[in-house]
Amino acid sequence: MIVLNYHELVEASPSNAWCLTHETFEAHLALCGEALVSPRSFLEHCSDPTSHGTGAVLLTFDDGFLSDYTHVYARYMTAGRIPGFMSFIPVDFVGSPGRMSWEMIEELAKGGVAIGSHGMAHVDLTTVSDAELERELGVSKSMLEDRLGRQVALFAFPYGRFSRRVWEAALRAGYTHLFTIQLGYHRGFESFLYSRLCMTNNMDAEYMRRHLRDPDAMRGVSWKISTKLGLYRQLMRLRYH
Ligand SMILES: [Zn+2]
Repeated sequence: MIVLNYHELVEASPSNAWCLTHETFEAHLALCGEALVSPRSFLEHCSDPTSHGTGAVLLTFDDGFLSDYTHVYARYMTAGRIPGFMSFIPVDFVGSPGRMSWEMIEELAKGGVAIGSHGMAHVDLTTVSDAELERELGVSKSMLEDRLGRQVALFAFPYGRFSRRVWEAALRAGYTHLFTIQLGYHRGFESFLYSRLCMTNNMDAEYMRRHLRDPDAMRGVSWKISTKLGLYRQLMRLRYH
């Protein structure tokens, strides 16, 4: 399975590299077609290694932008083509300009969108103290759970930055699925890590076509060699120790 990671969607003039136009997003959706799966279906099948090659695609959105509600949720509710998505919320940003309010996030959750935590203040978790790490992971989880009245077991690392210390703290806090930013299929080198392709606005329809054909094609030489030799997992464990 393939996991795509979007941020803000705008009508025109993206303000940064991670901001995509509605038009580009539409082109991506058209290419994904019937391959798009709901978060529920993804979570049911993601632990099955044979699901790698099925070409299924999951949509995820980070940072709690207003466009999750005004554009993506609206598409999901009315026009179809989106079978659901995951939305990762940095809790301190809720209600700020350009971000969703608690009411919108609650509505998303009730409508079947899978809500995950993206921490509190959107900090690089590999750089914070133990106390800060606990707060980022634990307080964001309990605040989301209080608001939504359900368990929140999904977490996306801000900036995709993580280490063994960070993932161990996240697992201790009660998260079960941790989303990173790496090229390729969703499987990380640990069973609880899920790779995502972070979309930037130079990734046009052609890029998406290539990615859907072979998600691992753009990965680096070291990945290719270490995977061929069966050493990728050990290499990553050393790197993130
Ligand atoms: Zn983020």
